Amino acid sequence: MELSKKVKSITPSQTIEITNTARQLKAEGVDVISLSAGEPDFNTPDEIIEAVYEAAKAGHTKYTASAGLPELREAIARKMKRDNNLEYAANEVYVGNGAKQVLYNIFMATLDEGDEVIVPAPYWVSYTEQVKIVGGEPVTAVTSVDNQFKLTPELLKAHITEKTKMLVLNTPNNPTGSVYTKEELQALADVLADTDIIIVVDEIYEVLTYGEPQVSIASLNDKIKAQTIIVNGVSKSHAMTGWRVGYACGDKELISALSSLTSQSTTSVAEPAQYGAIAAYDMAPESAEKYRAIFEARRDNAYEKIMELPHVTCVKPEGAFYLFPYMQTVAEKCGYNTVDDFVKDVLREKHVAFVPGSGFGTPEYARISYSLNEETFNDALRRIKEFIEEKTKI
Ligand code: PMP
Ligand code: GLU
Repeated sequence: MELSKKVKSITPSQTIEITNTARQLKAEGVDVISLSAGEPDFNTPDEIIEAVYEAAKAGHTKYTASAGLPELREAIARKMKRDNNLEYAANEVYVGNGAKQVLYNIFMATLDEGDEVIVPAPYWVSYTEQVKIVGGEPVTAVTSVDNQFKLTPELLKAHITEKTKMLVLNTPNNPTGSVYTKEELQALADVLADTDIIIVVDEIYEVLTYGEPQVSIASLNDKIKAQTIIVNGVSKSHAMTGWRVGYACGDKELISALSSLTSQSTTSVAEPAQYGAIAAYDMAPESAEKYRAIFEARRDNAYEKIMELPHVTCVKPEGAFYLFPYMQTVAEKCGYNTVDDFVKDVLREKHVAFVPGSGFGTPEYARISYSLNEETFNDALRRIKEFIEEKTKI
């Protein structure tokens, strides 16, 4: 069947593909360890599951308003005030099927053919492909490891043209684990305030920081807030990836456009899942601390173990649950031209899955998730070390 030019221009999500391959190998009985997970390994808290059960029993099993249940939009507005000190009215909040669909709908609602979107690289795999699907032009701004992969005002300025419509920022960052400080955000805001560039900030890893807490660029001043759309959701904060609830906060007109789009595509998010999100946002924010502390201990262990691998260097991540080591040297020492080939053979020979940096716009790196127990993580790193030792001996 002849497919559209648009769909032929996109690369499927590597994070999803590798995770599925590892899952399939496991189902076939192979002793695979997956370091490709992009989700918390915990189950959703019981009180959320119970709230969903009660809601479904009470008949909340129907279509809802396309922008989300009014009660959920209000719960999100309360969360934004409580956790971020940001004021949004319920009609400035839109609920979609996960942050991924929320982002897609934002691109759909704002970009015309040829509009440029600045995406700092390394980037999460879906930004560039989603922008392409709706006819926009992703413009990647490759950041430097010496600056912990963060966009600087100079780099930002160098990529702004008259066609620039939008900037996508992600902090805490997938795949690098970097977290922008308030001062770094202010420096970017100083450049953006003189423009009408829309700032989309993906804060899905908000609760997972291991140094300074996360700061939202929207909180810097009213002008920047008006230019910014915040994207977030319950996937990582409440271990709810499978429920598919995410949201956007920002300009009313855009929120209403997102609602119209939804009314003609998916109608609404599943009603029971929305009740789960209400329960999640009504939980005390401190309840996330237990998980954050576990991830911080895992981060420390993971960083220590990665630094023991020969020929591998890595920036110490400050958020999310990924390491993003430079692996080109080790790949070459092992006889491979690319990190992609190295990663494939580690999976084939040692049954450890992780994601090469090519999907993130930086092919000399790789992403290693530490969203799993330390013992299994350490076993995986031991296998990778063994692989390197065997290959470099030949
Ligand atoms: N943004 C980033 C940076 C992510 O890592 C993810 C995880 N898939 C998402 C957005 C989407 O999350 P979800 O659709 O599960 O809300
Ligand atoms: N965000 C996760 C990841 O980067 C989940 C997979 C995806 O949505 O791409 O692995």
